[in-house]
Amino acid sequence: MNKKRQLVSIVIPVYNEQENISWFFDHISKKLAKVDFAWELIYVDDGSRDNSYEELRKLQKRNSNVRVIKFSRNFGKEIATSAGLHACGGDAAVMIDADGQHPIELLPEMVERWRNGSDIVIGVRTTNKNEGLIKKYGSVLFYGFTNSVLKLNATRGSTDFRLVSRKVLNSFKDFGEHSRMTRGIIDWMGFKRELIEFEASERAYGKASYNYYKLVRLALDGIISHSTKPLQLSGFLGVFVMLIASVSGVLLLINLLLGDPYELNVTGSAILGIFLSFMIGLVLFCQGLLSLYIENIYREAQGRPLYVIEEQL
Ligand code: UDP
Ligand code: MG
Repeated sequence: MNKKRQLVSIVIPVYNEQENISWFFDHISKKLAKVDFAWELIYVDDGSRDNSYEELRKLQKRNSNVRVIKFSRNFGKEIATSAGLHACGGDAAVMIDADGQHPIELLPEMVERWRNGSDIVIGVRTTNKNEGLIKKYGSVLFYGFTNSVLKLNATRGSTDFRLVSRKVLNSFKDFGEHSRMTRGIIDWMGFKRELIEFEASERAYGKASYNYYKLVRLALDGIISHSTKPLQLSGFLGVFVMLIASVSGVLLLINLLLGDPYELNVTGSAILGIFLSFMIGLVLFCQGLLSLYIENIYREAQGRPLYVIEEQL
């Protein structure tokens, strides 16, 4: 294939990024001025409530290799990147955040690795100076759990900043699940993959729109849509608690029958109180877990479209 004619689509999800848009475009087009492949930018406006769409419209008028998809409302970043991947026409596509946290300097190298035969090139974040303790240890916990218990084989620090080949893009279209983690699907697919490390920089303008609730929701969706192990886990947890309850029950019996030989001095009602509340907690926990799966089944069973496009430029 003639290298000159290879097209790389760059997919950018946008949610309330009005200050970042023109700055980011200048930045990326300067970088891409010297490369030996053709490129297009696919912006997906994920229902922004600021002037992002106006900015994108201006950008699109002036540049023929800019395309814009406007969602009718906010569907979330995972759906927005999916829409961009569905719509793009490149021989490969790169997903990148609109806020400048992913180094576009790496783009040529990603493309180079793709040309050398990789189907997926994943940007792995080594440090994020601005990351709070909760986010940091939350992510340690998430990857520890997904890899050791769920055997999902995700790399800690791996991000959405990644390149995928046309082969991957074509099979990606077959995935219709709603509660999705785009990178989770790509991790699941297989194909020949490579990692590139980078240091995340700080956001250029504005502030991150992922609050802790959204992050926890994303982590849960990532786990629940890829594994039913947590369901089994709740069963084991139930067995474990029943075992403890039985042992304490035996102790209580000894206490009653033999007149407190271990001098525990516990009252029956205290034990009862503790166990009752513990059991209720456990039952609620397992119920919550079950309802997450049921919610997932429900959402998939509805079979609604993944997103609604209001306008396309
Ligand atoms: N984003 C989006 N929809 C949302 C939230 C975020 O499309 O509901 C986009 C956002 O515009 C940015 C990227 O997803 O391009 C990453 O978002 P953010 O910087 O808020 O998250 P973080 O840097 O914490 O991953
Ligand atoms: Mg960001």
